[in-house]
Amino acid sequence: MSMQSDYKKYLEGQNEIKGRPTGRFWVNQEKRYVKPFRIYGNLYYVGDSWVCVHLIDTGAGLLMLDAGNSGAQAMLVQSIWEMGFNPADVKWIILSHGHVDHFGAAGFFQRMFGTKIYLGAPDARMFRQTPYLSMIQESGNCMDTLADIDVEIEDGDFYRFGNVEVKFRLVPGHTKGCIACFFEVTDGVEKKRAGYYGGFGFNTLQKDFLLQLGDTDFDMRKVYLDSLKKVRDEQVDIFIGNHVSNVDLLNKRKYMLDHPAENPFVDKKAWKSYLDCKRDELTVWMREQDKE
Ligand SMILES: [Zn+2]
Repeated sequence: MSMQSDYKKYLEGQNEIKGRPTGRFWVNQEKRYVKPFRIYGNLYYVGDSWVCVHLIDTGAGLLMLDAGNSGAQAMLVQSIWEMGFNPADVKWIILSHGHVDHFGAAGFFQRMFGTKIYLGAPDARMFRQTPYLSMIQESGNCMDTLADIDVEIEDGDFYRFGNVEVKFRLVPGHTKGCIACFFEVTDGVEKKRAGYYGGFGFNTLQKDFLLQLGDTDFDMRKVYLDSLKKVRDEQVDIFIGNHVSNVDLLNKRKYMLDHPAENPFVDKKAWKSYLDCKRDELTVWMREQDKE
């Protein structure tokens, strides 16, 4: 093969990926850069304008929630530095669920810094047994690798990370191993309880998708609704999601900059009202799907 034909093949591969419905997820990710910021106390935002990544300073190392989109490693490392931390101090990563747009830099952190990776046990099995389900959005990089999961989270687990204790619930629906977790954050004076919900997308509840998995009665949709109900009554002062749209993050950040004395992220009603909203949206969506 000549160098010209190699290059032609390379461009063809690139154009094929760009032409897919999900192609936009992999192109020029730096356009999605968001200047990192403090949400509250020891809780920080280091994600982009699509996929959330949160950082918690535990006093004995950094805990990161999700690891960004595949291919966004450099931007994530830059954001962590810019926030005033060293990426090498990320001791633990909790993955919201096992999809490629959330575990992007997990393998990199594990190999580079020895970071320990936590994932819901059913999604850890998905990694091992059906990796094609983890790459659901068809990563644009064929060199992507799945991380080795160090700790498989079960429903009801508690883990301590530095000074932060985290309570876990499994909230299957978007995937079987989505996690929700709850922990306290502090500004040194006051404490607030943060609640994280690891997967709201209906894309994996579509008929074609569920039929391929052998879920002919679409039971997973009911499981999704049950999961919302299971954690709805948790007391949450700060709702954090794994995509910016879940918590209207960019508008809240703008509000924060315009009103420095207020913090729109501290909102006792946000968790319940968003979970209720997803319940209602799914109910309507299911009815529409059934008509097809
Ligand atoms: Zn997902």
